[in-house]
This record gives sequence, C-alpha cells and structure tokens, in this order.
Amino acid sequence: MKRVINFNAGPAAIPMEVLQRAQEEMLDWNGTGMSVMEVSHRSKEYEAMHNEAQDLFRTLAGMGPEWKILFLTGGASSQFFMIPMNYLFGERKATYLVTGHWSKAAIKEAKRFGPLDVITTENPDGTFTRIPKQGEIKIDPASTYVHITSNNTIFGSQWHYWPDVGKVPLVCDMSSDIFSRPFPADKFSFIYAGAQKNLGPSGVTVVAIREDFYNLAQEQAKLSTMLSYRTYAENNSLYNTPPCFSIYILNLTLKWLLNTIGGLDNMVKINSEKARILYSAIDASDGFYRGPVEKDSRSQMNVVFRLKTPEMEETFVKEAKAAGIVGVKGHRSTGGIRFSIYNANLVESAKTAAGFMEEFSRKYR
Ligand SMILES: *Cc1c(COP(=O)(O)O)cnc(C)c1O
Repeated sequence: MKRVINFNAGPAAIPMEVLQRAQEEMLDWNGTGMSVMEVSHRSKEYEAMHNEAQDLFRTLAGMGPEWKILFLTGGASSQFFMIPMNYLFGERKATYLVTGHWSKAAIKEAKRFGPLDVITTENPDGTFTRIPKQGEIKIDPASTYVHITSNNTIFGSQWHYWPDVGKVPLVCDMSSDIFSRPFPADKFSFIYAGAQKNLGPSGVTVVAIREDFYNLAQEQAKLSTMLSYRTYAENNSLYNTPPCFSIYILNLTLKWLLNTIGGLDNMVKINSEKARILYSAIDASDGFYRGPVEKDSRSQMNVVFRLKTPEMEETFVKEAKAAGIVGVKGHRSTGGIRFSIYNANLVESAKTAAGFMEEFSRKYR
C-alpha cells in the first residue's frame, strides 16, 4: 500500500487516524455486530453518535445551546437556494459580498427569491484576486442578512478579518476553511459547510443557525417539507434518513481535531506554517511561479499559482504525480496549479511539496 500526498480540492484528504478507526469498526460498529451503514437511524446507538457529532461541532465552534446544529444533504450548493427560500420573502432583501466562484453561484440562486445588494471584487476579466476592505462595504441596515464566503476555494483568497455589518445578521459559507482556525461564533448568525473539504466525506452539509436568526425563517407550512430549516431543527435532523455514514466520519474527524490536534488554536498554527512554507516557495522562485492573489488576501487553504505556460503547468502536474503529490491541477474554470492544504494535510506534506517546487523550477527555469 502506498498513500500519496493528497492536495485534492474536495472531496479531499481525511486524517489517517480517522480512516483507520473506520476500518477497524467496519464490520462491528459499537458492539452492534453491524457496520454503521447497516444500523437503523432510529436506534439509540446511532442517535448517540449523531448527537455527539453535534456536541463536538458546538465545542469546537464555541457555540452555546442557542445554536441549532443541523445535518443536511444536497451539498453546500443547496444552501445557495435554501437560505433565500427560507429567509427572503415579503418585502425582504439581502446583501451578498461576492469574492469568488462560489459566492457568484450563491447570488445566482438568491436572485430568484428577492432583491439583492451585491458588493463584488470581480476583475474585468472575470477573475477574483482580493477580499474587499472594510471601507468598501456599505450595508443597508434593512437587509435581512449579509452573505459572505470565508474562503474562495477556486481563486485562492480568504477573509482575514470579519467584516463589520452593523446589526444585520451575518451568514457565512465556510465550506473550505471551517475549523481551519478559531472564529468568533457570536459575529455570525448562520454558518454552513459541505463536509468534504475540512470535515470528512461528501454527503453531509453542516448548518449552524443561531436561535434569533432561526426565528426569522419562513413558516414550515409555506415550504416543501424537506426544504424548510424548521423540519430539520424540530426533528433533530432525523425527519428522514440522514447521511449516516458521512455523519459518522464527521464525528471521527471532529474527535481527531479536538483530541489529537488539540483544537483550533493548534490547528491554525499548523495551517499557517503550511501556507508560509508554500507561499515562500512561490515568492522565492524569482517569477518562475506567480501567485495571482493579493498578498493580504491569500488563502491558507488553497494555494493557487501559475507557471509561464499552460504546457509547463501540465508538465508540473505530471511530474508532481510521479513524485507522489496528487490533486494539484487548478479548477477547470481557471487553470493553473492549486494545492488544497486542508486540515488533514500536515506540515510534512507542505515541506515535501515545497521541495518538489524548488527542484522543478531548477530543472525547467
Ligand atoms: C466546494 C464548495 C461549495 C460547493 O459544495 P458542494 O457540496 O459541492 O455543493 C460551495 N462553497 C464553497 C466555498 C466551496 O468550497
């Protein structure tokens, strides 16, 4: 068996310890004589694991009992329409801060439900290379919510401060950097994340809603049952069959983060070190590698850079793979190279990758 250095953007690397635990428990989970995939979601064993995953999430996020932690399906993409469907009705409007591909996808859906104020950092050529400054952000206090994307997975930028949005509730798509660093939960009213980048496998989306904002949601009876947050909140995300296996791996991943890593204060140190190593390799390459993102907006999760030509980038991808480093090709919409260095990749992976970059640049300069 040979494990590679996995820089896939999502689904992405999962900690070895989590995979091994799942392997050990595959045939007989928790003394049930079955795998977790074969157990009823109404059983006490399942429900205890499901509730524990919510508690672990709450602990890591520093969220009190005023937060509802929900498990949904349909990916983070389904939240792009579910949020406005549940919150934009009557005379309501919302504000969207657009900083990349996924926030653009979010406004496309939200526009169907109500008027939006849009603040964007899109460049004339359709790329995104920065996060807006506080001075550029004017929020109409009449907005029902402000939506931001904390990390731009495709363009490789990330918010390094949390915008002041006055009293307007802040909604955040944290899909690609959740639990990569501590964050002040009380600044937010709604946080969501597809699990397949930093939390485990695809199949489950975690939605956290604070009580006061939850109370502003549309009545259950006005929406399709499965599209109302109230259905999930009132039934502990067990109205219908949840993605049990994904929630189980989520549970193990959160335990790894809490117990093996030691929580978010330790995680951010590891992540900052990885990002420092890789951006140094870009900046020290004398222009051989070019990072398009403005330095103060660079992502600590998705390190994006270009080489001189698309052909050279293709060679880079091929030789990286031969060196045991996979998943480095940029998104199909942007090209270039992208190293997704989510939580499960530790400092050693970044060191190996930086060594590879240096060798490659020496060979082809
Ligand atoms: C990957 C990603 C999405 C889309 O997630 P799906 O689960 O595939 O729908 C949305 N937002 C961000 C920030 C992402 O990184």
